Amino acid sequence: MQATMRAAYLPGNSTVEMRTVPVPAPHHGEVLLRMKTSTICGSDIRAIYHEHLGKGPEGYQGVIAGHEPCGQIVEAGPGCRRFKVGARVIVYHISGCGVCNDCRRGYMISCTSTEYRRAYGWQRDGGMAEYMLAEEKDLIALPDELSYADGAQVACGFGTVYEGLEKIGINGNHAVLVTGLGPVGLATAALCRKLGARQIIGIDVVEERMKIARDLGLCDAVLASGSDNVAQVKDLTGGHGVERAIDCSAHALARATAIRATRKWGRIVLIGEGGTVEFNPSPDIIHEQKTIYGSWVTSTWLMEELVERLVRWNLHPAEIITHRFPLERAAEAYALMASGKCGKVAVCADEELK
Ligand SMILES: [Zn+2]
Ligand SMILES: [Zn+2]
Repeated sequence: MQATMRAAYLPGNSTVEMRTVPVPAPHHGEVLLRMKTSTICGSDIRAIYHEHLGKGPEGYQGVIAGHEPCGQIVEAGPGCRRFKVGARVIVYHISGCGVCNDCRRGYMISCTSTEYRRAYGWQRDGGMAEYMLAEEKDLIALPDELSYADGAQVACGFGTVYEGLEKIGINGNHAVLVTGLGPVGLATAALCRKLGARQIIGIDVVEERMKIARDLGLCDAVLASGSDNVAQVKDLTGGHGVERAIDCSAHALARATAIRATRKWGRIVLIGEGGTVEFNPSPDIIHEQKTIYGSWVTSTWLMEELVERLVRWNLHPAEIITHRFPLERAAEAYALMASGKCGKVAVCADEELK
């Protein structure tokens, strides 16, 4: 085993700093992973890359970046109970205390321990390195049918979407609207398709993203963002609007569109982070009997369920990865993701680079 490794840090001025640091050794209940794929998230760009905006759970503490890691165990520390050397694993990206109420529900994302809750790539070292330490309790087994790149996509994007879709329920009766066709929006459309949605309508402003949604056949209709979106969605749905809407844009006008383009008794889930929204409660939701849900990441058990379903559906999340870079070119990877002119951007090693 080599003594040092390369790792990427985000100083908060729209650059990436590569450093050589010691390869860590796993302590009790921890494993050392050889990193295979680490994808870049919209929240890395929003809260860390340009400037260190995040507070609390989104506070970046100068650690190795990357919270969507997937790799192979090369060393297991003492006390590991399930996962062994050679296992292919996804890392649930927040390590919680394990004993608060939220952790016991599997939602380490909302762990209430200020002392022990640490997110990979935010408050503890993440996946943008040759190797990474993870706690065994944070691991999800990656099925043989899925690649490491598929797994990295589950870590944050697809898991977050699956949780939101489970909350509002998607089935063959539903026309669905997805506002925002970045990686999370594309994941939403792909999962809605497998869950049987009858019609999927997407909205975005970036031409590259609209094209990916069309080229991959993820949406039945793709609309350019504009003031007539609500009327357009109603036209496409027999004048009714959609039964389900998912906002992945975090944009105020797109969120209002998601709410207003949903038909009576419909459900809306807000997944996109940050920003604001303005709507008129009586006409927009109360009188129309609509429900708005919020959904933050997912649980370890639902992630396990999702990877099982991905295999059953033959759905490969890596399909929305449009660009792969080796670790040494992480700076280019972040710059491309920040431009938005791409699908998902991944930093890869070994078989995932070929
Ligand atoms: Zn993420
Ligand atoms: Zn906890």
